Amino acid sequence: MKVKTKFALVTAGILFLFALLFLVANTAFILHETLLVRRYELRIVARRIDEIFNSADKTTIGKKRALVLEGVKFAAKKGNLKFAAFNLKGDPLVFSDDYQEEVLRERNYPTKLGSSKNTEQWKSWNKWDTDIYYTGEYCYVKLNDTQNIEIEDDIILFFLVSLPVIAVLAVIGGGLLGAAATRQIGRVEKAAAEIAGGNLAYRVPTSSSNDEMAVMERDLNRMFAELESSFSRIMEFSSDLAHELRTPLTVMTGELEVALRETRSEEEYQRVLAKTMEEVAFLRRLVDDMLILVKPNLAYAKENFETIDLSELLSASIDALDLLADSKGVKTHSRIPKEMKIHGNPSLVRMLLYNLLHNSIKYSGENGEVEISLTGDSDTTTLSIKDNGPGIPEEERLNVFKRFYRMKIAKDNGSSGTGLGLAIVKKVCEVHEAEITLESSDEGSTFTVVFKLH
Ligand code: ADP
Repeated sequence: MKVKTKFALVTAGILFLFALLFLVANTAFILHETLLVRRYELRIVARRIDEIFNSADKTTIGKKRALVLEGVKFAAKKGNLKFAAFNLKGDPLVFSDDYQEEVLRERNYPTKLGSSKNTEQWKSWNKWDTDIYYTGEYCYVKLNDTQNIEIEDDIILFFLVSLPVIAVLAVIGGGLLGAAATRQIGRVEKAAAEIAGGNLAYRVPTSSSNDEMAVMERDLNRMFAELESSFSRIMEFSSDLAHELRTPLTVMTGELEVALRETRSEEEYQRVLAKTMEEVAFLRRLVDDMLILVKPNLAYAKENFETIDLSELLSASIDALDLLADSKGVKTHSRIPKEMKIHGNPSLVRMLLYNLLHNSIKYSGENGEVEISLTGDSDTTTLSIKDNGPGIPEEERLNVFKRFYRMKIAKDNGSSGTGLGLAIVKKVCEVHEAEITLESSDEGSTFTVVFKLH
């Protein structure tokens, strides 16, 4: 069964019940009021009968009631006339205050007209030509109650007519409400189908209302926007990657094809293998760097957070790059106070140090000078790496942190690199909530990283 139908049925049921309750309560109230009035009227009649029986003017009662009057006289003498008034069905309607059903029953008087088994006269009650009968102790008065019966009939008719009308109205109301509520579900359903079909730019049309559905629609739209941007980031990353892979693969294919075309000298084979090896090494570095870029998210990295002795880690990284610096003729000067601590992920921080140091050595060139310092106060620890390389022009300073971005000068002077180093540095800073700044001029560049001590 469709949600719309279910909703409509439930709503119709609830509406029907409410309408029925209202109807019953209303009818009960009207009935109660009517019967109260009727009862009051009957009491007046009963009082009137009482007056007649107690009246000195006995002629008004008529001949047929002579017997009754005898009894009435007797009763009146005693000063209390006991009476009960019955409707045409024989149910007692009003009675004098001392009417006692048990007493009547004990004495074999009818408590209800027609209920006495051994008193013949009661059996023909409805045939009486008088509406008053006196037993010698009790005076029985028959009152016409047809008006009440008519009211009951009217109520039954009213119920019979109004129940189907209410049912039809409830179904229509339920249907309308169901359609209104499920219209919103339909919009979400369409959006889900569009997104699943690849239309990532589709959004659920939202209203300004603040009900749960509208809030959910806005949340869904936020989720769709997030999905779209993640998807486009993945697409961009994949196409960048394919582009970066193409160059080394083309170089390798070219070299190998030329080498295979005819028999070459041993030196030539050596050269081709060395070139291929170089490209394979580049591909490996590319894959390693990519894994680092893709993997760390805040949750993953924070799981592995610990107190790091940054002084020690920095000194070790500089030592590890000593050989490279020597081979490039670059001198490193460091001012590293002991035991400067930060809180972070050691392998990611090592990666950050390596990339910044490696770049400063790589790009400062022959006779380069690199100054490394660590300073700190009670709130922060600051790492600064300054080189005297060619510098990074202002318009490139944001670009160099992008994935696969390499400045033209770096490509031209043949320095190796994947263009992922500074993107990794930026990512590590984000994970550590550290701030990275770059100052640069044609006299060199300074990268500064400020770690907060939480
Ligand atoms: P890679 O070094 O592999 O090319 P990076 O992401 O580390 O990639 O750096 C991006 C670009 O930024 C480099 O290609 C280079 O042009 C420039 N760059 C990075 N560090 C320096 C530096 N210290 N001095 C000059 N240019 C730099």
